Amino acid sequence: MSRKHLLVGNWKMNLGPHQAREFASSLAAEISALKRTDVWVCPPMVSLAAASEALLSSPVLVGAQNVHWAKTGAFTGETSPLFLKDLDVTFSLTGHSERRTYFGETSETVAMRTETALAEGLKVIVCVGETETERANGTTDQVLGDQLAPVFARLSAALAPQVVIAYEPVWAIGTGKVASIQDIAATHKFIQQLWNAQGYDHQPTILYGGSVNPQNFAEILALKEVSGALVGGASIKLDQWLELIRIAEATAE
Ligand code: PEP
Repeated sequence: MSRKHLLVGNWKMNLGPHQAREFASSLAAEISALKRTDVWVCPPMVSLAAASEALLSSPVLVGAQNVHWAKTGAFTGETSPLFLKDLDVTFSLTGHSERRTYFGETSETVAMRTETALAEGLKVIVCVGETETERANGTTDQVLGDQLAPVFARLSAALAPQVVIAYEPVWAIGTGKVASIQDIAATHKFIQQLWNAQGYDHQPTILYGGSVNPQNFAEILALKEVSGALVGGASIKLDQWLELIRIAEATAE
């Protein structure tokens, strides 16, 4: 049986609690049962409770945009996986390129965040991707390998099914530029090979992210190497988000 598609919306630093509740309520009103697609959204931390409440009776799951590696302590501004669990949040992103670029996150701290979140029972979407210069220099595979190595070093086969990898070329995020279909296929295949070399006993779920919209999504999702998408901008425009869900529901895997 083929796997379901996974469509994840990253709201970034948009939609505070009131707006999040409103948006999530409109989304819940438009979505009934989903057959072929799991839909997850990542509101800002302060909007998690509002979005969760509004989406409670819908099939949409709510997750965090980041999670800390410690369970409690002197880490001002950070969020413990225990607090996310307390809100019935089921997953978190780690390593989004905006965290790496603007907040100094390293592949090591991303791996630490991932490890604790998994240990506490959350699913984790680990984001990786190369810059435009790295792609131009032909070092994409090296960069992705270096980003994933500390994650794999801390990931047991038992917890591997709780991990999703999001391949997001940095230069494609929020820019309107999309990687070519050939590059997406080749890079996902490379990540799949890295995963398989770890000896985990199932195939990885690998999402593409970077300026996905209703015009380009069907072609990307048609690739056998692509399990779904991580979407920023188009995930907070209700008409576009609903259209992406419709495409994922309609596209055969
Ligand atoms: C993202 O934030 O992960 C992302 C892919 O953003 P966008 O879809 O806006 O490029």
